[in-house]
Amino acid sequence: MSARQYTHYIDGRFDGKETSYVDRNSPATGEMVARFASGEPADMDRAVAAARAAFDNGPWPQMSGMERAAMLNKYADLVHDNFDKLVRIEVEEVGKPIRFARGDIGGVVGLIRYAASLAMQMSGTTYTNLGAQKTALLMREPIGVVGLITPWNFPALILMQKVPFALAAGCTVVVKPSEFTSGSAFELAALATAAGIPEGVLNVVSGKGSVVGKALTQNPGIDFISFTGSTRTGQTVIEDSAKNVVKTSMELGGKSANIVFADADLDAAVDGALMGVFFNNGECCVSGSRLFVQSSVADEFVKRVAERSARLKVGNPFDEDTDIGAMIDEKHFSKVLAFVKSAVAEGAQLLTGGHAVEPSQGNFVQATVFDRVTPSMTIFKEEIFGPVLSVTRFETLDEVVGLANDSVYGLSNYVWSKNIDTVMTMAKKLKSGWVQANTIIDGAPQLPLTGVKGSGFGYEMGQAGFEEFTQLKTLFIHTGPRQPVFSQ
Ligand code: NAD
Repeated sequence: MSARQYTHYIDGRFDGKETSYVDRNSPATGEMVARFASGEPADMDRAVAAARAAFDNGPWPQMSGMERAAMLNKYADLVHDNFDKLVRIEVEEVGKPIRFARGDIGGVVGLIRYAASLAMQMSGTTYTNLGAQKTALLMREPIGVVGLITPWNFPALILMQKVPFALAAGCTVVVKPSEFTSGSAFELAALATAAGIPEGVLNVVSGKGSVVGKALTQNPGIDFISFTGSTRTGQTVIEDSAKNVVKTSMELGGKSANIVFADADLDAAVDGALMGVFFNNGECCVSGSRLFVQSSVADEFVKRVAERSARLKVGNPFDEDTDIGAMIDEKHFSKVLAFVKSAVAEGAQLLTGGHAVEPSQGNFVQATVFDRVTPSMTIFKEEIFGPVLSVTRFETLDEVVGLANDSVYGLSNYVWSKNIDTVMTMAKKLKSGWVQANTIIDGAPQLPLTGVKGSGFGYEMGQAGFEEFTQLKTLFIHTGPRQPVFSQ
């Protein structure tokens, strides 16, 4: 099998420039699967200039919402037609199980179709209550040229939580995908052009974050940066974009609580505990990686979670029955195993897993469950981003609220209880952008995702996510004779 090779996608075409490449080896087999152009700041400048020209002089922002929606729907059709190819790219480059990659690409199609519907509804507000001679219009306009920076764990899905919303608003876009997993970003950009979306509207420059990512956030031609990634990189992006006083949106890390009350449907909650931490190899920002179980049911519940975790199939991500694939690279694989070591050293009780899958060429970690985890332990506090579950027992609602909120992050939290009072009380007391009850890592294009505290700010998806790509211009109109203010 020959590796896919991509040059930057600028102004509606692959630029084909002679360049050096970042090689991508499959995390499951070690085999090279793709090569992405290793961009320089000058490449980013060309892409931003193309997006700037497409916004300032091109047809896209001038089109009616109806025309933009029609093209976005055609785009969704083309993505659907290329479903298998995109799924394969995600499995090869990320190492995620194929059934989860199918879910991602299905999600992409839904996101584009939903964003198309928003293009038709873009509107502002009219104030007619300002007095007989005064009217004001809040005119909603596209924010301009947007820079999108994305991580490696859901390369297509997270990108498309941003792109179609930006396009629906009439913005033009420059994407800097993760250097590990840029393939689907390039394919999705080429499909946009094939759908009739004009040249320069969607550009992709690949390469290192510290080089092209930085060149994007510092570029004076950018009006808005929407970033998804780690909290530490997010802080750098905020600092760099502040130089040009550019608005940012930050979707950052998490350390979410998955809270099981004794009155829950415990069968569903056991499955939810597994989904919470092993979905997408545990490489998921909204993982429910801290499991809290009410003491009266904890012994039996934790035993069932550990038994089922031990049976999960770890290995070839292309196998239909694989549950957990490969960690993204060797460095991350070692980091996950170092967290496991720290948990053992700090006194957590290892119930299952806790080691790599041997012998193997890839970065495979067994599903791992630790019981008796306390708030002072490293695995309670830090985002592991791997298949490692920590279990903590609790007695009362107030106690578990304190434990769950004891985190620098605030992305998502999950509650399992059949009692609506418990669910509503928890929803109000938990500090996070998302709370889900009796389900986990669920979502829909209509529902915004956001974080609080170290998990970031700004909205992704939904009407609120769409409005991030717009701004309001206030037009204040006086009609008829105007009383003079100065008599001289
Ligand atoms: P990362 O922060 O290392 O990289 C994210 C992106 O930023 C990559 O494209 C990278 O090349 C780029 N980058 C790196 N340095 C940069 C710089 N100086 N300037 C500009 N761009 C730069 O994150 P990652 O390892 O790719 O992804 C994992 C992290 O992402 C986890 O912390 C996870 O929780 C988070 N995440 C958050 C969400 C969310 O919606 N909140 C979703 C997925 C992942």
